[in-house]
Amino acid sequence: MDQETLRFAKSNEAKFVENLKNLVKIPSVSFPGFDPKWVVESAEAVAGLLRSSGLQNVEILRIKDAHPYVYGEWMNAPGKPTLLLYAHHDVQPAGRENLWKSAPFEAVEREGRLYGRGTADDKCGAVIHAAAILSYLKTSGKLPLNVKMIIEGEEEIGSPHLEDFLKAYQQKMQADVMILTDTGNYDTGIPSITNSLRGMASLDVTVKSADHPLHSGMWGGPLVDPVQALSKMIASLTDKNGKMTIPGIYSQVRKLSPAEAQSLRSLKYTEKDFRKQAQILPKTKILGGKDLLLSLWRLPSLSVNAIQASSKKDCANIVNESAWCHLGIRLVPDMNPQKSLESLKKALLKSAPWGVSVEFLNENASPAWLAEAQGPAFQAAARALEKGFGKKTVFIGCGGSIPFVGPFAKVLGGAPAILIGAEDPYTNPHSENESLHLGDFFKSIQSAIYLYEELSSLPAKNPERPKALQNRIPAGV
Ligand SMILES: [Zn+2]
Repeated sequence: MDQETLRFAKSNEAKFVENLKNLVKIPSVSFPGFDPKWVVESAEAVAGLLRSSGLQNVEILRIKDAHPYVYGEWMNAPGKPTLLLYAHHDVQPAGRENLWKSAPFEAVEREGRLYGRGTADDKCGAVIHAAAILSYLKTSGKLPLNVKMIIEGEEEIGSPHLEDFLKAYQQKMQADVMILTDTGNYDTGIPSITNSLRGMASLDVTVKSADHPLHSGMWGGPLVDPVQALSKMIASLTDKNGKMTIPGIYSQVRKLSPAEAQSLRSLKYTEKDFRKQAQILPKTKILGGKDLLLSLWRLPSLSVNAIQASSKKDCANIVNESAWCHLGIRLVPDMNPQKSLESLKKALLKSAPWGVSVEFLNENASPAWLAEAQGPAFQAAARALEKGFGKKTVFIGCGGSIPFVGPFAKVLGGAPAILIGAEDPYTNPHSENESLHLGDFFKSIQSAIYLYEELSSLPAKNPERPKALQNRIPAGV
């Protein structure tokens, strides 16, 4: 790689921000109830971006009932390894629009950050690699290795058609190394490789006690209130310290190896960091003991994501006939997703008071993921990030879930799956005012340029596949 490539990227930063703004404009929410035409439009825009960056054979890949994937490649480096790049172009819904300081689908720069839904999660993923590829092709006319790029359209709803996709395109996706640009950095400006992800066991719970809402004055007293019933059920899942009380839920958790424990300690993460990054209110307690990174990355946690019975607008003197919530447990390595989901359901049923009916819907169970971050591909990626950011690369876990990773790495025969990304702790993904630190965005582009060069010296048939990289998925999943 010559310096010209890096210089080209530097002098085109404004253009790359423009590319990202154009993608953010398209509200490609993949959730049910949102118009899927925007995800199609976003796929077309991403295909346009890949084409204009010089990728070849760009096409929109379709699987029955799935939101579209976008694919592009540059396979003109015979004898060199093949790199598969992954990002996603669908986004979360905007959430409460009144809490956004600027319109969610109009990317706006403020104080060195670009605000807008999908700026960081994960439209920047496609833009970063398109920028790096363009920089190479415009300056040296070639890439140092073969590249395939796949941009998914339904990551935010848990990649429901992944199995069908992999069945149809397994051959097309074959590669020596996989880079996923959908995770975050440990802190702003600190390049990070994520080697563990939490999984998820979640579901909808509906509690019902009557056929229709009833006047709380005329019937209240003898009448069962399903909102109170559901509240008791949710409350029964944790003790006063926030620890889950579901039998057996912690017994499956894999213990940290001494090296992993040492790696967590070396990051020196404190309560102060947590409070600053999460911006919690000063008097709000922090749960789960002192070892915060252990709690965040390697212990399960319960969240109630939404709860509904009547609404603020329709609030009246009634006893509701039903109450609904969506809740889930973030799973960690060695926890069996189906078993965890069954334990959660059992605990909810056991605590349901007063003979209410309990219905479960939209069940979702996906495993955690853990990779041994060793071997030449990881070292090459760590070196590239270090050069791009000018700071030492750290290895971290991620409390979030990317259901895509495990099955995909498996289909690639255990090829190294390296998780990087431009998010930082202030990104606020999935929440209002999502933003991308522009300095880190530019550093990520520089890193991608170094990354292709670093990875190009790996053998084309990766010898580390059989042993060093076991993407451990809990048995039975
Ligand atoms: Zn994402």
